[in-house]
Amino acid sequence: RTSISPLRKINQTINSYAIAKNKEIETLQKNAVFRKEFIADISHELKTPIFAAQGYVHTLLDGAVEDEEVRYKFLKRAAKSLNNLDKLVQDLLTLNRMENGVVKFHFENFDIKDMILEVIEQLEHKADRRDVLVRFYFDKNDTFDTHADKDKIYRVCQNLISNAIKYNNDGGEVVIRLEKKKNKLHVSVRDNGKGIPEEDLKRIFERFYRVEKSRSREGGGTGLGLAIVKHILEGHKSRIKVESTIGKGSTFSFSLPVA
Ligand code: ADP
Repeated sequence: RTSISPLRKINQTINSYAIAKNKEIETLQKNAVFRKEFIADISHELKTPIFAAQGYVHTLLDGAVEDEEVRYKFLKRAAKSLNNLDKLVQDLLTLNRMENGVVKFHFENFDIKDMILEVIEQLEHKADRRDVLVRFYFDKNDTFDTHADKDKIYRVCQNLISNAIKYNNDGGEVVIRLEKKKNKLHVSVRDNGKGIPEEDLKRIFERFYRVEKSRSREGGGTGLGLAIVKHILEGHKSRIKVESTIGKGSTFSFSLPVA
């Protein structure tokens, strides 16, 4: 009996080796599928603005260029599609660099309240066009210095506030709150738009995941904004949180350290 034991040991070793290799192969296959899907997604996303711009330019070349009004309208639309294409490529590069860990974070002290005011001013036009009211609440007697990457946090605020306007109803409201709790600054952006279905909530941070495809594209959305936001906050050892109720609206929030 004792003589089988070494053989059994070898068998066990071979078995566990096979299991480990199988797992490795499974991971590689999963990565390959993921890459294939990603390339398919990118191709599809790139085609949308390219085809649109092509359509307008060819229609102009086919004779529409003679009509001054049509000429102007089509050129404007072609320009918009090219802008979307540019934004998409920029976002893809940013996300890719973040996922590969090559993006460097430059931490400094700054006042996040001033930053939010700046973002609101920049998005005022967008809110006015939709008749959306943007309110910003903070304690006037408090200070709001944080230690973070300024450009990247600007991007986070811009993305969340811009989404709260874009996915709101006409005449809706956006409420931004900045609060100091212990040694953290807490930012929340609430809208009273449609809300996000429960099954989509987990997925909106994935690249190209959209709940409302047409509204996102019309608003110049790339479907990459929240994926970038998530990465930026991870780089700050922070997390983006979301709560949403259908028909009532959504709240996105995050925290940063007090400087
Ligand atoms: P997009 O460029 O499409 O806006 P994002 O990554 O910023 O991409 O958002 C992903 C998707 O999440 C959006 O397409 C939209 O469907 C949904 N979403 C984001 N913010 C909100 C919000 N405040 N209210 C409702 N839906 C939202």
